[in-house]
Amino acid sequence: MGLRDLFIGLLKDFGSAFLPYACHRCKVSTDFGIVFCADCHEKLVTALHPPRLIDDTRCDFAVYTLSSYNSLVADMIRIIKYRPSAKLLKVLTAACQKHGDLKSLIKHDDIIIPVPMHCQRQSQRGFNQAEYLAKNFAQTGSCHFSPALLRTRATRPQADCSEEERRDNLENAFTLDKKLQQNAFAKKRLILVDDVATTGSTLQICADQLKRLKPAEISALVVAHSYKIAV
Ligand SMILES: [Zn+2]
Repeated sequence: MGLRDLFIGLLKDFGSAFLPYACHRCKVSTDFGIVFCADCHEKLVTALHPPRLIDDTRCDFAVYTLSSYNSLVADMIRIIKYRPSAKLLKVLTAACQKHGDLKSLIKHDDIIIPVPMHCQRQSQRGFNQAEYLAKNFAQTGSCHFSPALLRTRATRPQADCSEEERRDNLENAFTLDKKLQQNAFAKKRLILVDDVATTGSTLQICADQLKRLKPAEISALVVAHSYKIAV
């Protein structure tokens, strides 16, 4: 063991003693710096699958998901949002990149666009999980990433709204970034990315804005889909 390894070992022991780590999901104690235990990771890998078409959204375009409704993925998404945990987001994103067969959907010339978060909420949370997922998915698919949409006002969480209120809640909440080179999007395949889709209202309103760019096609990719995920 070199001096460097010894030093790192001592640092980890010191860290574990004073800053005990636990799995963010099941609370079992873990090694220093580890926020997701091996057991939960195994379950995550089992829950992920290649992009699969969802047939019960209200979107007028194809929406794909990387996992079926599963309490583990739902828990992860909730913890990422409300803890909030950038470390857990990294674990989820890396697992999607490794086990989600993203290249079966994403092609070289596609443009991946995240569902935007209001700047106020983003500065409170420190990150927009959709943007982080989108950037990394674009890297895996060797395609383009563009934060083409902006959220012009903070909205209530969709889960707090009734079915009827959902669309009104999002009315005029999104717009195209005025600095966009709009002709770069014409005739391209645009893929919207978000962490979760429930009824698909948010994705539809974002897509309605993207249609102004005259793309060849719009689709969406989410990590999880369920009416049951209250996020
Ligand atoms: Zn765990």
